[in-house]
Formats: sequence, C-alpha cells, structure tokens
Amino acid sequence: THPNYGRIDGTIAIIGFGSIGKGTLPLIQRHFDYDADKLVVVDPNPTGADFLAQQGIRFDNIAITRDNYRSELKRLFPDGKGFCVNLSVDTSSLDMMQVCRELGVLYIDTVVEPWAGFYFETPDNADRTNYALRQKVRDAKAANPGATTAVSCCGANPGMVSWFVKEALLTLARDTGNPADAPGDRQGWARLMQGLGVKGVHIAERDTQARAIPRPRGTFVNTWSVEGFISEGFQPAELGWGTHETWFPENAHGYDTGCQAAIWLERPGAITRVHTWCPTPGPQFGYLVTHNEAVSISDYYTLGEPAAPEFRPTCHYAYHPSDDAVLSLHEMFGSGRQQTVHQILEPDEIVEGIDELGVLLYGHEKNALWYGSRLSNAEAVTLAPYQNATGLQVTSAVLAGMVWALENPQAGIVETDEMDHARCLEVQRPYLGPVEAHYTDWTPLQDRWELFPEDIDESDPWLFRNVLAS
Ligand code: NAD
Repeated sequence: THPNYGRIDGTIAIIGFGSIGKGTLPLIQRHFDYDADKLVVVDPNPTGADFLAQQGIRFDNIAITRDNYRSELKRLFPDGKGFCVNLSVDTSSLDMMQVCRELGVLYIDTVVEPWAGFYFETPDNADRTNYALRQKVRDAKAANPGATTAVSCCGANPGMVSWFVKEALLTLARDTGNPADAPGDRQGWARLMQGLGVKGVHIAERDTQARAIPRPRGTFVNTWSVEGFISEGFQPAELGWGTHETWFPENAHGYDTGCQAAIWLERPGAITRVHTWCPTPGPQFGYLVTHNEAVSISDYYTLGEPAAPEFRPTCHYAYHPSDDAVLSLHEMFGSGRQQTVHQILEPDEIVEGIDELGVLLYGHEKNALWYGSRLSNAEAVTLAPYQNATGLQVTSAVLAGMVWALENPQAGIVETDEMDHARCLEVQRPYLGPVEAHYTDWTPLQDRWELFPEDIDESDPWLFRNVLAS
C-alpha cells in the first residue's frame, strides 16, 4: 500500500501530457484523494486522448497561450480551488503561477518556462539566460511575498538536487567529524557549506539508458523532452560563480542587477564541455547546459552582499545524457539543423542502463563527495508505470513538491532550496532506487592529455579554469 498524502479540493489540472505529465498522473492517482471528475489534462497534442478516455479522465485538447492563459485558468478552476501542475513546454511559468496565486490555486512546475518563441527568437543572448528567467520569478516573490504557494522548478534538476545538496552537506559534516543538525534557515546552510570548505557543486549526471536498435540518422533521441533539451542546449552556458575563482573566462559576462550569483558564456551549453565525475564512469565529460539550479544554489548559499560576497559556491550542470542523445547533439550542431524526428526512449524499449543523477560537492578536506540517485530503468518500471528512470526521478520530485505545497499552502513563491528537504526526500525516496554517497580523490587535473599543454592552473585543482574543457 502506498502512503496517502491527503486531499486536494477543487480541480487538479495537469498542463502538458508529455513524458513527465504522463508519468506524474499515476503518482497523483496513487497518493492523493480528490474528486475524480475534477481531474483534467490539458495538451494541444491529441496523442494522449485515447489513453485518457480509457481511464475516464477529462482531456482538454487545447494549447495554453499568452492570449488565453488567464481565461483558461479561470475556466479550469471555477471555484478558485485546486492544484495546477504545469508540465508543459511553451507556457510561461511566471504568468501561469501569478494567475493561480490570484485565484488561490496551488501551483507547481519543473522549470521556469517562457512562452513559445523565447528560446530561438530572443535576439540578445543575455536575455535568453536562465538567470533572466529566474530573476523575474524572484522579483515577483519579492514584490508579493507569502500567500498561495507556488513551487518553482521542482523536478529532478532543477528540484531534487537542491535537497541532495543539503543531505550531502550533513553527510560530509558527519564524515569529517563535525556532525551538524539541519540548520533552520538559509544563512545557517550557507555557513555550514562555508565551514566545511566546499568550493562548489557539479550537478553530475550520467545517463546510460539505451535501447537495442542504433540511433537512426536524422533523429534526436533522448530520455526526456527532446524539445526541452534542444531549447536549453541552445541557451548560453551558465554557471553560479563562486568566490574561490581566480580567473574569468574571456567570453563570459556577469550581472550588476538581481542576485548576481551567476555568469553566462557566449557559447551554447550543449557544446560546452566540462571535466566531471560520476560513480559509474569515474571521470567523464559533461555538458555545461544551463539550468535554474546552477543559479539558485549559488544564490542560496551566498553569504554577504550580492556584488561582493564573503562566500559563494560555484555551481553548474555537468550532464552526460544517454549515448543516443550525445550522438543526436553531435549531429545537430554539426549539421546546423535540428532533427525533425524526435524520440523519447520508452521504458519498455530500454534494454539497459541507469540515470545516475547527483551532486558533486568539491574542494573540501575529503576532496569530493558525489551524492545522488542511481536509478535503473529496470527498477523504475517496477515502481511506477509509463516512465523510464529519468522520468521517475522527475515525477517523484513533482509528487514531493505537491505534498509539501499541500502541507504549506501559504508559503508564497518558493524554490526547492527553500523547502523542507527532509520531508521532500522522505516522500520521494521510495522512487529513487539506490541513493548513495561516494567519495573520490579524482580532481579535474587528473587524467589529462599531457602531450598537449592546456590553459590550467595547478595551484587549485577545483578552479573552473581547470574544469572547463579546452
Ligand atoms: P515533452 O516534450 O514530452 O512534453 C511536453 C508537452 O507539452 C507535450 O505533450 C506538448 O504537446 C505540450 N505542450 C506544448 N505546448 C503546449 C501549450 N501551449 N499548452 C499546453 N501544453 C503544451 O516534455 P516532458 O519531457 O514531459 O517535459 C515537460 C517539461 O518538464 C519541460 O518543460 C521540461 O523542460 C521539464 N522537465 C524538467 C525536468 C527537471 O528535472 N526539472 C526534467 C524533465 C523535464
């Protein structure tokens, strides 16, 4: 039997029924009480219609757009009660959450998504960053504190990895002989990280899920949204910029407004490689794809003034997607054309592999600690239907965020760094497979191609200068 996390009154609207929407549905059905006739799925793509009809679930086969979102949300939530679960692409998270808050409807998403057109039609790269997208949500929070809860960016990453950072800090404190209780506020967490000597965090991921047939040429294959991955892959590379950094990349830009925790590079993230480490492969290349958590984590753990902090960790994604996705990126950037055929690997066609997704805390007295989920697809299919391992890491975070929102309905706009990580992981953990801590003595200076001198600085192995691959 599965735990029941209480009753959701009013409408539950799942906006977007792609890989994540379809995987979230059974978790909602399993863990909440609600009126069955008030569950509705909204998606302009009719693919899910038969499936939903068989389950007797209402389906609104429409797109949410800049022109209709206000009226559609009012229509979907006529009595101003319920939960808007936004798992779509091309709908503005900020606009949607603001209307939901006006209506008194709980809201959650997994990314700060913009309206259609943003990713490829915004001329200025500085405006196409996650920094810009996130800062608007932070500004909305500051302008309207408290009131109805809207959880921003609560997937696997962004999302769960922020809870892993906290669990990893407590693990590191214990393992270095300084056991600590979970701090009660942001400042306390930042002091804990600073005190442990952590210089930065990679969101270090290796996805080894594969199917039996080789990737067909001209097809973009991924284990989650192809559209979402291409969009973020073409955004500029971005990272939270720590106080230990002594060098500034020539093609980088900082900020003088907002939280000022991050920088961006004049280069797409999905062709910017970094040296990183995961338990299965050991050292590997990851792509420095921009993500909300790179900014939010560096911001959350900042001590002192935004412009001249006393402490701030570097933080960025270091993503080795599935081998088919790596080949898809290679083909896309090489040809200068996006593939028109998109495939997301289905749980029942995957023949092997795990999604190993964790946080690598580095620079401290034990060098580096990877803490994360090593969920295999083989295990994922026994835990919940309609999703692969990647999907389940995301949807179980959505579930945890929904539970937290129900238990904290007047918390205002929050990011996952600001939520009770222990409660969220308690809800999520049954779906994560092995959650493990691994120490390593690997540093970015090891295993380099010594016959070709590189632009590195051996005085501190963990400088971003050494992490960035030439
Ligand atoms: P997907 O591409 O499989 O599905 C997206 C769905 O949105 C599609 O069914 C599409 O028809 C629908 N859609 C498109 N335009 C819409 C509109 N105007 N109104 C309503 N629906 C619309 O994507 P996915 O893998 O399910 O991912 C969904 C979202 O979750 C993406 O934004 C993705 O970036 C995000 N995501 C976050 C994480 C995380 O860990 N934080 C992980 C995976 C995906």
